[in-house]
Amino acid sequence: MSKIINILKKKSLPVDEFINIALYDKKFGYYMKKNPFGEKGDFVTAPLISNLFSEMIAIWCVSFWEYLGKPKKFYLIELGPGDGTLCKDLLRSFKNFKDFYNSIEIKLVEKSTKLKKIQKTKIKDKKVQWIERIEDLKVGPLIFLCNEFFDSLPIKQIYKKNNLFLEKYITLSKKENKLIFSNKKINKNLIKILKNLNLVSGNRIIEYPIEAIKYLKIISSKINKYNGGFLCLDYGYKKNKEKYTDTLQSIKKHAYYNILSDPGNSDITSHINYKLFSKILKNNNLRVEKIKNQSDFLYKLGIIERANILSKNVSFKEKANIFYRLKRLLSKEEMGDLFKVLFAQNKKMKFSLGFK
Ligand code: SAH
Repeated sequence: MSKIINILKKKSLPVDEFINIALYDKKFGYYMKKNPFGEKGDFVTAPLISNLFSEMIAIWCVSFWEYLGKPKKFYLIELGPGDGTLCKDLLRSFKNFKDFYNSIEIKLVEKSTKLKKIQKTKIKDKKVQWIERIEDLKVGPLIFLCNEFFDSLPIKQIYKKNNLFLEKYITLSKKENKLIFSNKKINKNLIKILKNLNLVSGNRIIEYPIEAIKYLKIISSKINKYNGGFLCLDYGYKKNKEKYTDTLQSIKKHAYYNILSDPGNSDITSHINYKLFSKILKNNNLRVEKIKNQSDFLYKLGIIERANILSKNVSFKEKANIFYRLKRLLSKEEMGDLFKVLFAQNKKMKFSLGFK
């Protein structure tokens, strides 16, 4: 906390710069110093809830590779692999498809050195390498894959008041040495960008995913150049609230937390504006499937059938555990509805497994 207070003593920070320090500052950042995943950590993600999730993603990847004509070399790029569980479980499933396994090479992109270390102890396979930047990728065909990556990227928040566009900032309140929200007028350039993205209307809050857009552009250019696709699973805006909702939230020990109370020690996320993501990907010449709920996607891939097979010869307790975990992934009250899946691909392709 002291680092951020020292910075704020000198200047206020816009929301995106605040998030960047709170999550990714080399010493102080949340993701840089701890392993936040699991029941004992702060939050649990789909691959940690059930390995059936990863199995379904594995089957999807193998099918996409078959659709592409079983290329001799195929590259899977995972963005933000967390504690490495998804990648580890994918590899286990991939081994059941010999030709695919021979073709696949996995490249992991991880910003946190702490998490990279954890991934490296968990995943010991020559098929897996770590890369720093996706800009430098010169291989294909390739599939970009990510689960809960985009929700952890910094965003800007802007709102309109009396016809003025104000950007949300974080400031130190002099009286109590406490963090508070403040605002500053934004420049014309930014207003133009927001208008072009069709993010402006009414007086409600605008979330501008400044970092995500950079990634979407690079991903699109690689898919256009080398062929392949992009499968993205993450929290989406709730139905009919595509725009103008403040979705910034902080989580610590599995409970919601005020984002200003303990930066550096609590996670900060925002929801994905999938409408905007689709638009950007389409503008960059990709084919984008209609967004699906995570539950629909997993049902279509046969997750229930797989769970039935797995639970045939196991004890009642194990069977109950399999279905309890499945419920967490699929039910509307838990992840099923809030989590969405986006798939974009090279325009030459019409792969639609899980989306039709
Ligand atoms: N996919 C994992 C973890 C999600 S948390 C899971 O589902 O369990 C977000 C992950 O993205 C973390 O590993 C975080 O360190 C990483 N990350 C965030 N920003 C990044 C960036 N710009 N480049 C690479 N990795 C990043």
